Amino acid sequence: MSPKVERTDAEWREILSDQEYQVLRESGTERAFTGELLDNTREGVYRCRACNAELFRSDTKFDSHCGWPSFFTAENDAVVLSEDASLGMIRTEVRCATCDSHLGHVFPDAPQTPTGDRFCINSVCLTFEDADGTQGA
Ligand SMILES: [Zn+2]
Repeated sequence: MSPKVERTDAEWREILSDQEYQVLRESGTERAFTGELLDNTREGVYRCRACNAELFRSDTKFDSHCGWPSFFTAENDAVVLSEDASLGMIRTEVRCATCDSHLGHVFPDAPQTPTGDRFCINSVCLTFEDADGTQGA
């Protein structure tokens, strides 16, 4: 499946900040406990910072104490999962299905949630839209 939103590297650099580019397009990771959406508990929708696709809903966010925003499920068909063998570990990478940007990883280590999964997502990859339509963090 090819992404619906495709841009050149130069275009991505134009619309993303340096940190956003490094995480979204180069599969980087923001420092734990630094994300502006980590403790956000408001009701609303989390969108891809790169393409604005709807990715997660606030009612699937939970406090995992891992240092990154965590969700137990993603919106239908919003993300694609693939095996990531970097850093000497086998992990499951989470990418945006719409623009193929890196978002984070998913781990099956959340027995307290309905799915048992923890989507561990970089805050810098997300924008938050309040239930009343206000954009921002
Ligand atoms: Zn996207």
